[in-house]
Amino acid sequence: MRRLTGSTSFHLVSMCLLAIGLSGGFSLQANSMEKPGVNTIFSERELQTAAWIRDAARQDNLSYKILESLTTEVGPRMAGTPGDARAVAWAESKFKELGFDKVWKEPVTFPSWKRGVEKAEIVSPFPQPLAITALGNSIATPDNGLVADLIEFASLKDLVAAPPEKIKGKIVFINHKMQNSNEYGLVVPGRSSGASEAARKGAVAIIIRSVGTDSHRFPHTGVMRYEAGVPPIPAAAMSNVDADMVARMIKRGKPVSLKLELSSSANGSYTSYNVIGEITGSELPNEYVLIGGHLDSWDLGTGAIDDGAGCAIAMSAAEFIQRNRIKPKRTIRVVLFANEEQGLFGGKAYLEAHRQQISRIQAAAEADLGQGPVTKMSSFVRAEALPLVKQMQMVLAPLGIEAGDNNAFPGPDMGDLRLAGAASFGLALKADDYFDLHHTPDDTFDKIEPARINQAAATYAVFAWMAAQAPLHFGSGPELEKLNKK
Ligand SMILES: [Zn+2]
Repeated sequence: MRRLTGSTSFHLVSMCLLAIGLSGGFSLQANSMEKPGVNTIFSERELQTAAWIRDAARQDNLSYKILESLTTEVGPRMAGTPGDARAVAWAESKFKELGFDKVWKEPVTFPSWKRGVEKAEIVSPFPQPLAITALGNSIATPDNGLVADLIEFASLKDLVAAPPEKIKGKIVFINHKMQNSNEYGLVVPGRSSGASEAARKGAVAIIIRSVGTDSHRFPHTGVMRYEAGVPPIPAAAMSNVDADMVARMIKRGKPVSLKLELSSSANGSYTSYNVIGEITGSELPNEYVLIGGHLDSWDLGTGAIDDGAGCAIAMSAAEFIQRNRIKPKRTIRVVLFANEEQGLFGGKAYLEAHRQQISRIQAAAEADLGQGPVTKMSSFVRAEALPLVKQMQMVLAPLGIEAGDNNAFPGPDMGDLRLAGAASFGLALKADDYFDLHHTPDDTFDKIEPARINQAAATYAVFAWMAAQAPLHFGSGPELEKLNKK
């Protein structure tokens, strides 16, 4: 690769340090690379390298192998469990084995939760067991379970609108069917806040239709929250096919009574870690492209699509660049975030630890929507960098990737970084089957297709390399922070 001479390199670094000293962050004007006569687009040679990465990384199967290793050697890794600790140890040793220049971990502390027994059955009029799971954070039922009649609502909205006298003493059943992957945001509030809405009206428990698009007998877990000042009640989800069956029972017009038994409980405070690996940049090592996924999973499956895939995509993208000795100017930092599932704890801890250095982030993008392929690339950068984004999109177009807008969301653990002013990219993953498997026992490695995950890993490799090599700072800092508020 083209290298600048030592003295030019020093000049660039010292200009950056000067800018930090003067303004507490990179002043956009003070960036030496933007003076007249300096390229603000990628060179022909850089574009050729990027195209080579695209084609060669797609033939590389490392992301698949990393995911095979994580799901086989660690398996379920719910935050705060022994699996969490094993995943942290796995990640540290995997980064080292893959030849990353620097590997470290940063602590993330959160309240932990344990699952315990989870059982439900219809007691009358048609007794039979149901496939259910406790929602994350749920309290337990009394020791031998609780029995009450069900009251069905088509959505959280309908529950909120209903009179309390119809609900008092009953188990609320929210039967909101998720039709496709675009409806997650529409349906998931019933999971997260249904319990407190139901409890406010005197319900003794809540059981929801799983938030998922499959028609298998697997319930989907996921986190829920208790509102302060409202009594907590047990919260569970039943499989989609059980929800259909229970709805058919209710339609027959007689009271349908359900027995629910959960022994889940809060489990004290736990400290896990964001595990971080870096490929050090050749000229601007203090600026970095941030990619990653979340290391924790739910406990029912082995977290292959959520989010072992994201971890494997990001790790393999950076490793590909390292292995092929094509180090870009800036550092590529891979963060495997702790405990995303129960409240974005890893992302929040990362922001707190690095808030003073937002301007060092050249670009941020997290993979957390399955195994790919990537279908669209959008950005959130200052206007001067848009011609570079356009070039990145052109390099990626042969992979079937559309060009998106300049209002990208970088992923759950990086969302707050964008709000704090980090230049961000959204590499949209195809999610048509994602919510069939998400948070179920069926989220396992056999669902992974090499061609899909390899395309995603190649996309991340191209994105990370081009962003890290770009002749312009993408604008992380106060200017982009302000743009968020417009
Ligand atoms: Zn996830």
